[in-house]
Amino acid sequence: MNKDIATYFARYDVPSEVTSFVDRPIGHHVGGREIFTGKGEIDLLEPFTRSRLTGIANGTEADVDLAVAAARSALNGPWGRMPPLERQRLMLRLAEAMRSEAVLLAHLEAIDVGKSISEAGSIDVAGAIANLEYFAGWTSKIDGRTTNAVALPGETLTYTVKEPVGVVAAIIPWNFPLQILSWKLAAALACGCTVICKPSELTPLSAMRVAQLAAQVGFPEGVVNVVNGIGHVIGQALAAHKGIDKLSFTGSTPVGKAVGKTSLDTVKRLTLELGGKSPVIVTAKANLENAASAILAGVFLNSGQVCDAGSRVYAHRSVHAELLQRLKAGAEQLPIGAGLDPASRITPLVSSAHRNRVLNHIGSAISEGAHPVTGEESGTVDRDDWVLRPTIFDDCRDNMRIFREEIFGPVLGVSQFDDMDDAVDRANSGEFGLAAAVYSDNVNETIRLSRRLKAGNIYINAHGLLDPAMPFGGLGASGFGKDMGPEQLDGFLATKSIYVQIAGDPPLDEDHMEKAR
Ligand code: NAD
Repeated sequence: MNKDIATYFARYDVPSEVTSFVDRPIGHHVGGREIFTGKGEIDLLEPFTRSRLTGIANGTEADVDLAVAAARSALNGPWGRMPPLERQRLMLRLAEAMRSEAVLLAHLEAIDVGKSISEAGSIDVAGAIANLEYFAGWTSKIDGRTTNAVALPGETLTYTVKEPVGVVAAIIPWNFPLQILSWKLAAALACGCTVICKPSELTPLSAMRVAQLAAQVGFPEGVVNVVNGIGHVIGQALAAHKGIDKLSFTGSTPVGKAVGKTSLDTVKRLTLELGGKSPVIVTAKANLENAASAILAGVFLNSGQVCDAGSRVYAHRSVHAELLQRLKAGAEQLPIGAGLDPASRITPLVSSAHRNRVLNHIGSAISEGAHPVTGEESGTVDRDDWVLRPTIFDDCRDNMRIFREEIFGPVLGVSQFDDMDDAVDRANSGEFGLAAAVYSDNVNETIRLSRRLKAGNIYINAHGLLDPAMPFGGLGASGFGKDMGPEQLDGFLATKSIYVQIAGDPPLDEDHMEKAR
């Protein structure tokens, strides 16, 4: 093991099972076991030490073919024939196995993403387990419907059945690897699909562990597969593959568009969960103490690497000064440090390239005239580490990059408004529609605003709440389709309509056929 990693692990008493999991090459998980194929390895770096953690398999199209064959054969074999209640039991067993390995999984997220281990445990691991448990309950409740035909003559029986859509490819981003894997995996398994997961090449560890646990608790081989490798190789190969029936993608809008175009060539079912630039409206009737702390949590969670981060605040002129002062004070108190330090809230960004991208956005905000309030105010840092301090700008205008583009880092922009209609128009401007938040103690005002804001998820006096029973997904350039909630199930099901002509009935006469035409 690399010396820097060993020292880092020793400083935070990292359990031996974590060390043994990463102190070896990481392959793919296909057909119930780990395989080491592909074109060499990709270096996996730990973001706090910036040192090599391990190497992961650099997959090729041939690895995708292997995974598709394994997933198809499981679908046509034991998994396809398994009664729903047995599927439910397996899913609950997987959730239980994850619970008993919660410490390992939280460590894997913290060293892979660089995120706070406390958040990894309370949000990522707990959320993933809850999601599996919720969807396990759905396995036995997926029904078609019997309907009364309304225009057919004679006696018929008409009904629908819901079948698994087939082999699912799940493409996962690096910011919440385990949790977002669970969003796709749980609903797909509940519907009886088989899954090929492609984690980000920056964060493959937790997906590999979940696939191993699935094999250990008794999932038939080929039901849960992981193929590792570079996004534009493995992601594109999955999108183009004829043997895949459904693609569920979470990631950036540009990559989502490319993946979507490729997947249409083989007419796949498609879900796209994409980027955001979520507005926050703080009205004159807001409780500012609560608003400031929820806004800070909403934008600086995971060091700002959150798709629904409330990153542009519109504050009513009467509350703007006090809100800004509270935001500044709160941001400056957020503990900065290593992901493995349980006290840290702001930790390194995922990679050097991403840190530079975020810094470039900070530089643009300065050059476009936004007013620096706190954080990386100069737009340059002379440190080598990948940590950026929570940064706030005031006097942001809607045409600035800081208010238009997703930054995906610890950067918050603030602006003032006088007129509520104007605030709503400004909040609704832009291409994204993932989330929006409203802070007000006036219930009528919050409900009215929630109806007028264009976003898939609306938070009132809070930010970033998630629940397995609630669908999550965006509008506009934030994508389409839902993760979680019963709404997600349809994305993994095919509906078949069955017509039965009851024997003894007269055949359709010419008159009826004419009317139908
Ligand atoms: P990304 O688009 O770069 O990558 C996402 C996934 O796609 C990764 O697995 C990556 O390897 C793969 N990929 C990369 N290039 C590809 C290509 N050409 N073809 C096919 N696959 C490819 O996104 P990211 O940087 O990993 O994640 C950050 C983005 O994800 C942000 O835009 C964020 O808003 C978004 N996100 C959205 C949600 C949501 O639910 N809407 C949740 C989390 C993250």
